[in-house]
Amino acid sequence: PQGRVPLMAGNWKMNKNHQEAVVFVQKLAWTLSDKRHDYAAVEVAVIPPFTDLRSVQTLVDGDRLSIRYGAQDLSAHDSGAFTGEISAGMLAKLGCAYVVVGHSERRQFHAEDDALVNAKTRKALAAEITPIVCVGEGLEVRQAGGHVAHTVAQLDGALAGIDAEAVAGLVIAYEPVWAIGTGEVATPADAQEVCAALRARVQELHGEEAAAAVRILYGGSVKAANVAAIMQQSDIDGALVGGASLEVEEFSGICRFY
Ligand code: PEP
Repeated sequence: PQGRVPLMAGNWKMNKNHQEAVVFVQKLAWTLSDKRHDYAAVEVAVIPPFTDLRSVQTLVDGDRLSIRYGAQDLSAHDSGAFTGEISAGMLAKLGCAYVVVGHSERRQFHAEDDALVNAKTRKALAAEITPIVCVGEGLEVRQAGGHVAHTVAQLDGALAGIDAEAVAGLVIAYEPVWAIGTGEVATPADAQEVCAALRARVQELHGEEAAAAVRILYGGSVKAANVAAIMQQSDIDGALVGGASLEVEEFSGICRFY
C-alpha cells in the first residue's frame, strides 16, 4: 500500500530438497503465468534451504523467471573458521535478493539475540542483499499486553546504528510467535496495530522517508483464505508465509490476493 510494492515471501523452513525445489518453482511460475500474475504489482519470493539455492538460481536465470529468492539465515562473519556457516557474500553470488534475519525459530532454537540480528542485518546490507528482519512477541507477552513495546524494542536492537537510507530499503516482518505454524492468525486489526507501531518507530528514529518506504510484512498462519483481509491494512505490505508456501496452489493464491 501507499506506493510500496507488496511482497509475498514463502519461507520453506527445512522442507524440500533441491529437486523438489526446482519442480516447485517451475510449477509456481506456470501457475502464476496462468493467473496472469503481475510481478510488478506483487513481488513473489521463495526462501528455500541453502542446499536448494544453486538449483533455484539456475532455473530462475535460465528461464528468466520473475520469481525472486533468498536464504533463511546468514553468518555474522565474512569468512574463516566458522564451520557450518554461510556468508552474505556466498548468498550474493547465488543471486539471493533476500535473506531472513532473526526468525523466531532462530531466536528460540539457536539463541539469536538482538545484537546478533543486528550484526547479520549489517552483513546482508553490505552484500546488497535485502534483509527480512523478523520481530514478534510470544504468547505470554501478548497476554500481558506488552506486544508493542516488546516488538519495537526488538526492532531498535535489529536496526541500531543502521543509516536511514539502508532502513528505507529493507523489509521488516512482524511475526507474533503464537501465530507461527499454529493456525492461529492474528486479526487484521491486531497485526495492523503492531505494524503501524513499527512504522512509527522507523519514522521516529530514521525519518519520514524511511518510514514511508520500508516494507512491513505480517507473518503467522497466512493462507490464501485470510490474506486479503490482512492486505487491506494500511501498514501491511505483504506476508512472510511458512506452511502455506509449500503448496503451489495455496501460495499462488496468496500471491494473487488482489
Ligand atoms: C514463518 O515461520 O515465517 C511463518 C509465518 O510460518 P506459518 O505461516 O507456517 O505460520
